[in-house]
Amino acid sequence: MNSHLFISVIFASILANSVSALPRFFRNSSSIPPSLIPTTPDGKWDAFKNLTGCHAGQNVDGLVNLKNYLHYFGYIDKNNNFTDEFDDNLRSAIKTYQLNFNLNTTGELDGQTLEQIVRPRCGVADIVNGTTSMNSGKKTTSSGIHIHAVNHYSFFPGTPRWPAGKTDLTYAFLPANSLSDSVRTVFSRAFQKWSAVIPLTFTETSSYGVADIRIGFYSGDHNDGEPFDGVLGTLAHAFSPPSGVLHFDGDENWVVEGDVAASAVVSAVDLESVAVHELGHVLGLGHSSEREAIMYPTISTGTRKVDLAGDDVEGIQSLYGSNPNYNGSATSTTTTTTTQERDTSGGGSRFGGQLWLLLAVGMGLLTL
Ligand SMILES: [Zn+2]
Ligand SMILES: [Zn+2]
Repeated sequence: MNSHLFISVIFASILANSVSALPRFFRNSSSIPPSLIPTTPDGKWDAFKNLTGCHAGQNVDGLVNLKNYLHYFGYIDKNNNFTDEFDDNLRSAIKTYQLNFNLNTTGELDGQTLEQIVRPRCGVADIVNGTTSMNSGKKTTSSGIHIHAVNHYSFFPGTPRWPAGKTDLTYAFLPANSLSDSVRTVFSRAFQKWSAVIPLTFTETSSYGVADIRIGFYSGDHNDGEPFDGVLGTLAHAFSPPSGVLHFDGDENWVVEGDVAASAVVSAVDLESVAVHELGHVLGLGHSSEREAIMYPTISTGTRKVDLAGDDVEGIQSLYGSNPNYNGSATSTTTTTTTQERDTSGGGSRFGGQLWLLLAVGMGLLTL
């Protein structure tokens, strides 16, 4: 017991250092000061565009970084140290990526593929524990997961969801972030997008330590193995049920109100768009290959996308059923033929439940 408390205190002190105490929010994108605007249009991953035209057999500076990127999002195993050689594993990973994002599956680094790769995106991997139900996982796989061939929504391995008897989930904001009412309102609207279609409600509580869903803004390495990377790159991440953990990169230029698309500021990211997406993960959805879906992994800067697509609605309703008041306006007319067998690989988090328990306790201590 004492050792657990000790470890929790360590976690609490580590997390306290990485909390983004004053995340940057702007009423609209034109109020972002020029000093915070990156000099490259896509930010962190822009250098990957220099790899345009690379193909199998070549040895090119920077391929090792691309391999690390593809590894981070689940596309390539890291058995040995990566090199700058365009080997078969890289070719195969690129093909899988292209399949998942509905690009031509050339296995080469064509312009379209790299344009997609450099876009800001969610930090949650597209392929978790070697399985995915994005496009590349549609066929029957050795893990026994069968995904229908029509819709694009996906779940985490094991299809975790919140327990059936728990129909009202509480949520709380990390107190150290001192979020304004306008930021809280953004999240309230994001929760409503999901509660409109499924029989779940969401209630804000000030008791951060015991809330079902805990929302925090952090900078850089915040000790969950998923460090944030400054402006653009990964924007946020969340973990599968029932962890309820949802983190946003405190270094982004988050636009809270106003028209994010009206500005030429390249680094403006619409907070509500990203919040709706991450809440989909908190509820149990994985990434979708459907470009119009909220659960599509990337979002371009200056873009606002807050409405659930038919693909999102069908995905979340297959987990929780329909809200009785939902008028069924999902646009998709596809028929679902899913048979999803449970596998034994556990939750979708890259980490064991124990670590998350400790993190939760540590976070709780921060607020006590
Ligand atoms: Zn995501
Ligand atoms: Zn995190």
